[in-house]
Amino acid sequence: MALLSGDLLNEKIAIVTGAGRGIGEGIARKLAHEGAIVVCADVNFSEAERVARDCGKQASGVRLDVTQAGECDAIVKNILDRYGRLDILVNNAGINRDAMLHKMTDEQWHQVIAVDLSGVFFMTRAASRIMRAAGSGRIVNISSASWMGNIGQANYAAAKAGVVGLSRTAAKELARSQVTVNAICPGFIDTVMTRSIPEAIREQQVAKIPLGRAGQPADVAAVVAFLASDEAGYVTGEVINVGGGYVL
Ligand code: NAD
Repeated sequence: MALLSGDLLNEKIAIVTGAGRGIGEGIARKLAHEGAIVVCADVNFSEAERVARDCGKQASGVRLDVTQAGECDAIVKNILDRYGRLDILVNNAGINRDAMLHKMTDEQWHQVIAVDLSGVFFMTRAASRIMRAAGSGRIVNISSASWMGNIGQANYAAAKAGVVGLSRTAAKELARSQVTVNAICPGFIDTVMTRSIPEAIREQQVAKIPLGRAGQPADVAAVVAFLASDEAGYVTGEVINVGGGYVL
C-alpha cells in the first residue's frame, strides 16, 4: 500500500470547490502532489486557473458557483465525459457573513446557507449519482468547529451543522456502494477568511489553541488527502476536528 509519500492518489480524478485560495488551494495542491488529476473549481475563475497551473499539467481550472444546482450537475457531467469517472469530491467552498442574531439580515442568512449548505448538497447529489454507479468514491466535506455554535455566526453555524448532518446521512446511504463521506471541522486556519477578523479577536482565538498556533491550509489538506485515499476505505461518517486541539 502507498504511504503518505507523493503517490497516495495516483491518477485519481478529483474536484475541489473553492480551490482559488486558502484551504481549497492547499487541498488542491496536496491532492495534485499526491498524484491526483485535480479540477480546481471556484466562482473566481482567474484564481482557479492560477492554482490549476501550479498543480501541474493535468490539472484544470473551472468557474463554478456552487449555489447553482445546474452548474454543479454540468461540471460533474463534464468530468465524466472527459475522464470517464470521478473519484474524489471535496466540498470546500464557503463564505461567512457574521452578525449577531438580532442584527442578522435575511440576505446574510440566505447567502451563507446557499454557499455553505446548499452548495454542498448540490455537488454531493451530482457526484453521488456517478459514484453509486461506479461502486466507489470519496467525498470530503469541509464543515467548521463553529458547527457546535459560535457567537455572531448563527447562519454559518447552522450551515456547517447542516453539513455534518448531510455528510452522515450521505455516508449511510452511500456505504453500500463503497462510497465514503466524511466531514472535517477546521478550527482557526490562517486564510483571507480569518484575516478579516479584528487583530485583538484573532489573538484571543489563537491563544485558545492548545498547540499554540493558527492552522495552515496544509494542516487541513493532509487530512483530506488521507480521507480521499484508498487507505481510508474503512472510515466513513466521521466528523474530524483539525484545530490544534481547539475544541478540547
Ligand atoms: P477563503 O475565503 O479564503 O476561500 C474560499 C474560497 O471559496 C474562495 O476562493 C472563494 O472564491 C470560493 N467561493 C466562495 N463562494 C463560492 C461559490 N459560490 N462557489 C464556488 N466557490 C466559492 O476561505 P477559507 O478560509 O479557505 O475557507 C475554506 C472552507 O473552510 C470554507 O468552507 C470555510 O467555511 C471553512 N473553514 C475555514 C476556517 C478558517 O479558519 N479559515 C475554519 C473552519 C472552516
